[in-house]
Amino acid sequence: MKILERFAGQLPLAGTVAVLLLVGPRSVVAEDKAKARDLYREANTNFDRGQFKLAADTYKSAIAEDSQFGDAYHNLALANEMVDRKQAIEDWKKFIQVAEGREEYKFDVARIRARVQILESMPALPEAMQPARYVLEAGDYYWTISRNSEGEEWTEFPVKVFLGSAQQLKWQEGAREAFDTWAAVFPLQLVALSKQADIRLNWEGGYFEPGRVGEEEDWVQIKPDGEGFNARRIAVITVNLSAHWGKNDMRAIIAHELGHALGVKGHSDSKKDIMYMEKQDNRHSFRVPGFPLPITWRSLVKQPSQRDINTLIRLYNHPGSSVRFK
Ligand SMILES: [Zn+2]
Repeated sequence: MKILERFAGQLPLAGTVAVLLLVGPRSVVAEDKAKARDLYREANTNFDRGQFKLAADTYKSAIAEDSQFGDAYHNLALANEMVDRKQAIEDWKKFIQVAEGREEYKFDVARIRARVQILESMPALPEAMQPARYVLEAGDYYWTISRNSEGEEWTEFPVKVFLGSAQQLKWQEGAREAFDTWAAVFPLQLVALSKQADIRLNWEGGYFEPGRVGEEEDWVQIKPDGEGFNARRIAVITVNLSAHWGKNDMRAIIAHELGHALGVKGHSDSKKDIMYMEKQDNRHSFRVPGFPLPITWRSLVKQPSQRDINTLIRLYNHPGSSVRFK
């Protein structure tokens, strides 16, 4: 059967059907496709668990049973983006070969051609963002942030950070500690001048209007610095000084905002992650002494979790959001 299928795979569709009708017992063909489907489903489960290498191997087994299994080629390439970028590029090209001219993939081929171009132009990643640093047990929340975070990654490393001068020493210390927790897991460099920095803390004009409390996603702004082709992309974190933050509050705030500035546009659904944020909601709000309005901002953890880091690794290795085929 293997030989027949390999042979059949090289023929145009009409030829394939003719050969199968003449020589191939159709039940055997159906069985192999069923086996391919089973392997494919198994690989999808591996993929969803973050077992990218195992998923890739299992997709390959599915393809060995059905050499025209377009969806398997697609998901194989996607899985290999989290294993080996060069291999992923080759796999995407194979997907294009298999999918080209097939009605069901007519929108995918152009999309994947663009994806290959992006993959080929992506910078070499620092050690900390290599797929091998992904820790399986920790999982990630990539799917909740991937669409909004597309294109938010930095392309030059280390990313330079300007912490500025806070009005209070405890805030300055909190900001520095937040920087240190990220610098331990992502290539960051402190710089002395704001204009040298990719990520800049702004301590002025940070007295937010009360209505904005809780809408903290706006605290980080990505914008061009300069004009035209020479413009440099920067992230400015305007620190909300509307409450009597202690040092630990400030560390948690800045660590969280740095996560946004590094590319995570969105939030985690787990309180154990630095990128968790409670939505404005009366049940969750609490009052800060001396501050008239309930504050809903709060990230309880001290540093990025492995789940935060895993999410960032996926963000930096996938060239844009893409859903695996079902
Ligand atoms: Zn946030």
